[in-house]
Amino acid sequence: MRSIRLFPAFLATLALTACAPSTPSASSAAPETEPVRSELFAMDTVMDLTVYGTDPAEGEALLADAEAEIRHLEGLLSVTDPDSEIYAADHSGGVPVPLSEDTADLVAQALTLCERTGGALDISIYPVVRAWGFTTVDYRVPGEEELQSLLRAVDWTRIRLDGDRLTVPDGMEIDLGAVAKGYTGDRLMDLFRDRGVTSALVSLGGNIQALGSKPDGSAWRVALQDPDGDGYAGVVELRDEAAITSGGYERYFEENGVRYWHIIDPADGHPARSGVASATIVGPSGIEGDALSTALFLLGPERAADCWRANDGFDYVLLLEDGTVQISEGLEDRFSLYGDWEGRDLTVIRR
Ligand code: ADP
Ligand code: MG
Repeated sequence: MRSIRLFPAFLATLALTACAPSTPSASSAAPETEPVRSELFAMDTVMDLTVYGTDPAEGEALLADAEAEIRHLEGLLSVTDPDSEIYAADHSGGVPVPLSEDTADLVAQALTLCERTGGALDISIYPVVRAWGFTTVDYRVPGEEELQSLLRAVDWTRIRLDGDRLTVPDGMEIDLGAVAKGYTGDRLMDLFRDRGVTSALVSLGGNIQALGSKPDGSAWRVALQDPDGDGYAGVVELRDEAAITSGGYERYFEENGVRYWHIIDPADGHPARSGVASATIVGPSGIEGDALSTALFLLGPERAADCWRANDGFDYVLLLEDGTVQISEGLEDRFSLYGDWEGRDLTVIRR
């Protein structure tokens, strides 16, 4: 399920550093510390957190707080937990529901991103996603009439957020699944930074987000999954940024030889078929990266380039179904193809 991994070469480097003999003589330099790491299952995915340069007890305490933050956000955002704020809004019958500061902040950012993507991202698509069985793993292909009827209740512009009061019109439901992990990554970076950490890396179900650079000052090297296989298709270098991928290979089912995946085009209620096999966003904001990776996957190469030209603050990689690659110009010097994808046709998109 994880779409981006740490490049293996980086892990090898880490292992070497960790195995280096400690200096026997007394030294005034700060002692080398081991990274502190934890793995957990949350938001329906495996999460991996690593902080560098802390003393072990401090690192463990920090990661316990990070896990508590993740559980807290998960509790607010779940669409299935009757105690969650989103559940309350979805089952309010159109009455305004008060939100905590965190949920209000996330919903406000999500609505802005629905607008910025021209509605490609639509947080009210949930009933359609459910109709395809992606919420229960009880997959099915809905009929056209059913889809058209569900689409009548899909329109993010009808959702109202007034301060901390959220109104989801009767008959509509929202789900923040397309942006929740990205938002969580941003919150973890804030937490680590507040506690004085300068180097950390998290993988939230394939969303990679880095604080600072590697402890030796060099860039993190993050591998993009090959959408056609188990290996890697490319490597991107980043510092203080997230690398977030959406791909049709992440969650899908097949029926009568046709593959149906979990990113749905709000225009017609069907899995988005735009010629994109995977879309990766590289940029400083996790929530933006998450929203835009979903949106660019859906928009396809031409409209993805338009969206990038209209919006500052991120770069992208599209691995296309025809085997070619497009990257935006900010990645020109820090992205390279890898493995089976080496030597493929690569176009640099410019402003
Ligand atoms: P993942 O959850 O695999 O990381 P994404 O971040 O791309 O993938 O989010 C996809 C999820 O968002 C889907 O599982 C679905 O719940 C929801 N979704 C699907 N299509 C859209 C869309 N057009 N707008 C908003 N959310 C969507
Ligand atoms: Mg997303």
